[in-house]
Amino acid sequence: MLHIKNLHAGIEEKGILKGINLEVKAGEVHAIMGPNGSGKSTLSSVIAGKEEYEVTEGEIFLNGENIEELGPEERAHEGVFLSFQYPVEIPGVTVTNFIKTAINETRKAKGLEEMSASEMLKKIREKAELLEIDRKFLSRSLNEGFSGGEKKRNEIFQMAMLEPKLAILDETDSGLDIDALRIVANGVNKLRSKDNAVIVITHYQRLLEYIVPDYVHVLHDGKIVKSGTKELALELEEKGYDWIKQEATI
Ligand code: ADP
Ligand code: MG
Ligand code: MG
Repeated sequence: MLHIKNLHAGIEEKGILKGINLEVKAGEVHAIMGPNGSGKSTLSSVIAGKEEYEVTEGEIFLNGENIEELGPEERAHEGVFLSFQYPVEIPGVTVTNFIKTAINETRKAKGLEEMSASEMLKKIREKAELLEIDRKFLSRSLNEGFSGGEKKRNEIFQMAMLEPKLAILDETDSGLDIDALRIVANGVNKLRSKDNAVIVITHYQRLLEYIVPDYVHVLHDGKIVKSGTKELALELEEKGYDWIKQEATI
């Protein structure tokens, strides 16, 4: 599904990613961990095609296609979903209307007709039920006065509705409370399937107690310096990142 080869990228002359190799197959969940400033968010932004970052070397393939030339919207239409892409408050636009527009824009880009109102409603109900989201929430203004947990719920709802092929959840380093963690984990676990893949980016091992990854990678100074299974996350929790940094410099 995703194949990253020797990716180098940065911003304004500054190299941040320094040779990333990563292969993610359909059905897999990969966790990317690493200390603050190691390049985790940059990697997610570069995969999603954010234009402020410049790829200086290497390639990203999505389903066998080199996506270098695709902008962020086109990548989204190809099934790449990056969390926190729409954190803005939009007064007067409800959670439901926002997602309807997003879905129909994707369909339009693919040359499909708008989804019928009844089909849309059915889908909204089905996903809301799956994620235990109540109707009142669906008619609230997007992100307006949302708590951390509600922002997460909205994000997971968007993901469920868009049914991405590749979901990248950058949980950032800022404190997600335990409720928000559970919302994210529960949503991801319900949406996992053999046809999609998830990359969970996290600074903390905690989230991975709920979303059990198939593979864990450690990013340090723009490179994946260690890969393993979920046990690696436990080892990191216990021993911190220093031993990895030391191994990486030998
Ligand atoms: P992480 O998510 O692992 O904490 P980031 O990808 O956010 O790491 O950052 C990696 C490095 O790149 C840091 O040194 C950061 O300061 C730098 N960086 C990231 N984005 C930008 C930006 N937009 N402008 C300048 N420097 C940036
Ligand atoms: Mg950071
Ligand atoms: Mg980050």
